[in-house]
Amino acid sequence: MAELWPGLGGPNIDYISAPPAATWREAQSRSLVLLGSTGSIGRNALSVVESQPDFFRIVGLACARNVRLLAEQAVRWRPGHLAVLDATAATALRALLPKGYAPHILVGKVGYEALASLPQADTVLSAQSGSAGLAATLAAALAGKVICLANKESLVLAGDLVRRICRHRKAVVLPVDSEHNAIFQCLAGRGQEVRRIILTASGGPFLGKSAADLQHVTPAQALKHPNWNMGAKISIDSATLMNKGLEIIEAFHLYGLPVERIQVLVHPQSVIHSLVEFHDGSQLAQLGTADMRLAIAACLLWPQCRPLPVPALDLTARPLTFQIPDVENFPCLNLARQSLEGRGGRCVTLNAANEAAVELFLAGRCTFTDIPRLVASALKAHEDRTPGHQPLCAPDQARDGTLSLEQETRILTERIARLDGQSRELVLAQAGDGGTQC
Ligand code: MG
Repeated sequence: MAELWPGLGGPNIDYISAPPAATWREAQSRSLVLLGSTGSIGRNALSVVESQPDFFRIVGLACARNVRLLAEQAVRWRPGHLAVLDATAATALRALLPKGYAPHILVGKVGYEALASLPQADTVLSAQSGSAGLAATLAAALAGKVICLANKESLVLAGDLVRRICRHRKAVVLPVDSEHNAIFQCLAGRGQEVRRIILTASGGPFLGKSAADLQHVTPAQALKHPNWNMGAKISIDSATLMNKGLEIIEAFHLYGLPVERIQVLVHPQSVIHSLVEFHDGSQLAQLGTADMRLAIAACLLWPQCRPLPVPALDLTARPLTFQIPDVENFPCLNLARQSLEGRGGRCVTLNAANEAAVELFLAGRCTFTDIPRLVASALKAHEDRTPGHQPLCAPDQARDGTLSLEQETRILTERIARLDGQSRELVLAQAGDGGTQC
């Protein structure tokens, strides 16, 4: 089954990791740690587990603060280890567990890292939200796990590092993000003949809206994704197209293709999850119902395919359409593309500024159209201060360096947002909006 791995058909695709060992592929069961088990991906993953209860054993579950749901999940699956964000959440969790069940409760970043490297786990689902997921992904990679990666920020912030650790520690990455999972499936056993990969984008809830319309959209409108039911942060990122920008960076690190060979096509129905074009001009696409359990199961069960409780795809339900993304009104796509050209620090700045700007928007402290402008301002400040490439160093230093740049960027973004009207406009206008080239 190893020949199904992307890139094994030739040198063109340099997939981020080698295939998992035969012992994992051929095992009759999987021992799972789910990081982010109470979020959208985590809940869908447990639905997949529920459909194959004999194949999976849950050894660890983690969330940030939703201890009530974590306790319910823990009572159902009885893992020996749980992890939460802080001591307060740990106390609340302990109080919710029944007598006779006393798992180890781990706390904070160190707790998540310990859970991600549990010796009794062979597979880790990394599905924490945002940059908080990086530390646990790195810990899982250092421990040589098979990582089902839903946390795209791990690659946006430290893709080179994840690649190097995977190679060195024989860790494996299977992409849960639906587009990257689609490409993974289309590339099975191929590599040499790839011309480009094409990420599809739904266009989000504001597809076709003018710049004037976008000025006044509210968080409630932005949170209503037309096709996918997701968490708040990724829903806003889908509305700004920053999600697709981050996915370009994610694809770059997963598949090792130059950024100009990673393209985006708007496909509002979200039926085709992505495509690969080969040198002869032919394309392979992966299609499916817009249900994350398909991509999650493709990773957790790989290379097997088993029945799932997901409605079958009905291709007669509606016509499939495609269009070029509107990068003038949705500049985040190009901001992400340009960040890749500088690598390292620029992608960290892009991601941190975006996380801060999304929080400000959700709190009613900036407008929807301020999001790309705040990100562009933070990137400009980064360019002004650190010309040239920032090489990655040893894992711990690189990780710590990443986190401090991230904190600095968040503070800067919030400061710009707090400026009074005229000064704020001046700062935002200086940075431009990231250009218009797709
Ligand atoms: Mg996606």
